[in-house]
Amino acid sequence: MGAITPFKPVRRAAVIGSGVMGAGIAAHLANAGLQVLLLDVAADSLTAEEMKQGLTLEDAKVRNRAALGSLARLAVQQPPALYEAAFAKRITAGNLEDDLAKLSQVDWIVEVVVERLDVKRQVLARIESVWKPGTIVSTNTSGLSVAAMAEGRSDAFRKHFAAAHFFNPPRHMKLVEVVPGPDTDAGVLARLTSVCEQQLGKGVVLAKDTPNFIANRIGCYGMILTIEAMRQHGLTVDEVDALTGPAMGRPKTATFRMMDMVGIDTLLHVVDNVRERSEDAEDQQAFARPPELTALLGRKWLGEKSGQGFYRKI
Ligand code: NAD
Repeated sequence: MGAITPFKPVRRAAVIGSGVMGAGIAAHLANAGLQVLLLDVAADSLTAEEMKQGLTLEDAKVRNRAALGSLARLAVQQPPALYEAAFAKRITAGNLEDDLAKLSQVDWIVEVVVERLDVKRQVLARIESVWKPGTIVSTNTSGLSVAAMAEGRSDAFRKHFAAAHFFNPPRHMKLVEVVPGPDTDAGVLARLTSVCEQQLGKGVVLAKDTPNFIANRIGCYGMILTIEAMRQHGLTVDEVDALTGPAMGRPKTATFRMMDMVGIDTLLHVVDNVRERSEDAEDQQAFARPPELTALLGRKWLGEKSGQGFYRKI
């Protein structure tokens, strides 16, 4: 029998991206006893890439209000004692450029920025500029290619990089999909899995690096079919939520409330991901953007994070 390597817990983590998921993951890590550095882009500023895409300062303000909204929402989710402990003592917030050097002091870096390959690759390049071997780097992507994200990074960095995909809300959802890239070191993968299982109390499923992995490949398709069924049968959003929620033994957030929680922009990125990467004609048809979601995006009704999606947040 081979020697059993003792599990080495992580003590300090950095979460990059403080939106819907980043803030939730940071709170979960802090509640598990880790020291957490939570970094995002500077408030009310645009990255060079965002400027190229024609985003305005007003868009940046909406984005940052959304990020702050997530933190505020988390604050009210925590019982007062935990809130005190988690936020006042264990989470430090900052912005990526000013606090970049601090990433060299953590054991685990969790990338949770917007679901776009170009942005994630830029952020990983910034991380690598200060990264020290031994620090695990994971991405929370919903299903972008882990291999494509690692392209251009050094061999040593690629060995330490994998996806650890948390589900929304991270505090309550048990599942984490762990997805190795082509060069992920077996020891790093084992440690990442143990951290999720033993330190964070999650159930890990090892998935392959295919578009949207397992859960979003199925879940996203289910959401598209539900929207189609609503259209075909002339049902309302409320009626579908009533039918697919507690009446079927599922939570109130089963369908449209879930889409509002996820974020309409993020959901569309995830839908696009299968269509754009699959070579199967049936996939390309099945993962067409539902016009109902495109219409919401056009109005910048992104769900809970912007105050309005299928439902208005009160
Ligand atoms: P979000 O839009 O709520 O937040 C993204 C955050 O990234 C924003 O705060 C934004 O300011 C920040 N950001 C953008 N560019 C940045 C940069 N260059 N440097 C630092 N920060 C930057 O998105 P989200 O819903 O939290 O999703 C984040 C990731 O988690 C995505 O990969 C998404 O697919 C994945 N995910 C989302 C959900 C969900 O339910 N929303 C569930 C599982 C996984």
